Amino acid sequence: MNAQLREILSRSQAAFLGLAIGDALGAPLEFMTTGEIKAKYGLLKDLVGGGWLRIKAGRVTDDTEMSLCIARAIVAAGGWDLKGIAENFAAWLKSRPLDVGDTCRKGIRNYMLKGALETSFNQWDAGNGAVMRILPVVLSTMGDGGECERQVIAQAHLTHNHPLSDSACICLGKMVQLSIQGHSKPRLRKEVDALIEAHPGFRFEPYKGLATGYVVDTMQTVFHHFFRGKDFEDCLVNTVNQGGDADTTGAIMGMLAGAYYGLENIPRRWQKKMDSKVMDEVTVLAERLVRLSPQWEP
Ligand SMILES: [Mg+2]
Repeated sequence: MNAQLREILSRSQAAFLGLAIGDALGAPLEFMTTGEIKAKYGLLKDLVGGGWLRIKAGRVTDDTEMSLCIARAIVAAGGWDLKGIAENFAAWLKSRPLDVGDTCRKGIRNYMLKGALETSFNQWDAGNGAVMRILPVVLSTMGDGGECERQVIAQAHLTHNHPLSDSACICLGKMVQLSIQGHSKPRLRKEVDALIEAHPGFRFEPYKGLATGYVVDTMQTVFHHFFRGKDFEDCLVNTVNQGGDADTTGAIMGMLAGAYYGLENIPRRWQKKMDSKVMDEVTVLAERLVRLSPQWEP
């Protein structure tokens, strides 16, 4: 394996580990306000248990679990497999997960009852449930931006069919691929500027401080803390302490900052405290996914 591929592999793994860590770090803060977080933790910098889910420290939620569903389906099929992804979502929903978003539940039930692989447009589908789980597709399409775009939207439409969700998925997918390829923040910023040009609601300067499940608020929070952040820990800590949908903003920031800053920048203390089964599986899956991509020509 040449040095460039080694770097791509390691950043891909960092993105998947980052997603899981961000999910687990934010989970106990979900639905809290910044004031409530400050009163209880000061600034939360460590993996703790608790929150409304009464979660164990280092455990992940639906953000990581749905990403695993997609990753396993693509790896099992050796490539894109929308029906396989829907099947894994259905099995996951039947397993009574710790948490599942309303729009996700509705879309998965729609598949279970009618075999539908695409929900129709719905004005209420502009949540962040589709963008939080794009990473496996981003990895398996490394080196092919057009295919990445097509697949992030197809997986999104299993549950969320809304132009704001679609645009966020495409923009984040490009940012993560560029990060894995070693591009700079100013280059990534161009993708965000293009998104804002098309949908001015995503403007994040000045930052309004909203971190709800609405995909526009979610992405503003991620953009704000990513472009100001100085390393993986700084980006992630500031993001989850914003509260609101903290596990999902954490998961999205984790995949982006993981891809951008790389494995060496992910704090050891977080890696050690995480559910080791999840950490092992995402490490293996990230490698299998990126090896399926057009970028992989050893
Ligand atoms: Mg969650």
